[in-house]
Amino acid sequence: MEQLQDAIIVGGGPAGLSAALILGRARKHVLIIDEELPRNRVTQESHGFLTRDGITPADFRQIAREQISRYPTVQFATDTVIGANGSDGQFEVVTSQGHTYTSKKILFTVGMKDRPLAISGLQEVYGKSAFVCPYCDGWELRDQKLALIVSGATALHLAKTVSGWTSHFTICTNGMNDWTAEEHEELINHQISIIDSPIQHIHSASGIVEHIQFEDGHSLLCTGIFFTPELVTGSDVPQMLGCESADTGMIIVDEFGKTNIPGVYSAGDSASRKYQVVAAAASGSMAGISINSELLEEAWQYNVSKSST
Ligand SMILES: Cc1cc2nc3c(=O)[nH]c(=O)nc-3n(C[C@H](O)[C@H](O)[C@H](O)COP(=O)(O)OP(=O)(O)OC[C@H]3O[C@@H](n4cnc5c(N)ncnc54)[C@H](O)[C@@H]3O)c2cc1C
Repeated sequence: MEQLQDAIIVGGGPAGLSAALILGRARKHVLIIDEELPRNRVTQESHGFLTRDGITPADFRQIAREQISRYPTVQFATDTVIGANGSDGQFEVVTSQGHTYTSKKILFTVGMKDRPLAISGLQEVYGKSAFVCPYCDGWELRDQKLALIVSGATALHLAKTVSGWTSHFTICTNGMNDWTAEEHEELINHQISIIDSPIQHIHSASGIVEHIQFEDGHSLLCTGIFFTPELVTGSDVPQMLGCESADTGMIIVDEFGKTNIPGVYSAGDSASRKYQVVAAAASGSMAGISINSELLEEAWQYNVSKSST
């Protein structure tokens, strides 16, 4: 059994690393356990984080780790957390490599994961010319001919958003007809073309989309795609500990990252639907501050009770 940590951080993406930086600078003993499978690992450039626009996700993490390594009370382990138990002040965390670690607090920054992509040819272009968020990659696809693989109310929302970057796009519902008559009419009124046929295959070369072939024989020339993948929570260990979550799998937290279980926190994509690096980092920092405040308060109270006995 390893030494009792002040906090274990499960997940070393922007949220977990930001929390570690705060806690390391606050002289807390912290272990970050990360299996190193972030959701954005497919993308070549990450955008929108001031001073780091266009950086690769791997470089972002490496710079973060280098900076955090200046604080000697922070340690890293490459491993997967598969279980956790205990209560505030004494948690036990078990990993797939057979290690058991203990800590006073736990922070889950486990992100979200994509369900396997069901469309033939999509995996080959994901992160290269097919993306999920116009704010992340819309600039790179500006004025291009795009396919939006989406249906229902989400199609309307995505069409409005993407129209800020290009007016050349077609909605491909991939055979899903789950919108209301009003939503459908609104798209038609805006002269947005819609292809309802299921997609047979996305053709590409070196990761760049060339055309989409549909089951009904049609094909669509385009150079980029936006789509909405189905997401699942990065890990079910928070739920094992009793953390409440929404239908989407998102862990429910307060503004400081506290879950319903005392001593257990969550931040980043696993606890919000903002899905931006800067938002994940901000919530991780806030959770780090909150954990530190709680630890300081507990130590403060303990010292009073000790001196009065
Ligand atoms: C294709 C794509 C492109 C994107 N581009 C951008 C962009 O340009 N700009 C932007 O702001 N955002 C972008 N995003 C969103 C961004 O990636 C996320 O918002 C951000 O990474 C969330 O950070 P996080 O720390 O919450 O989670 P993550 O970065 O996903 O990190 C979670 C970490 O926890 C680890 N983990 C999970 N479970 C366990 C476990 N049980 N044990 C140990 N470790 C575990 C994972 O392996 C992972 O390393 C993009 C997303 C995608 C999918």
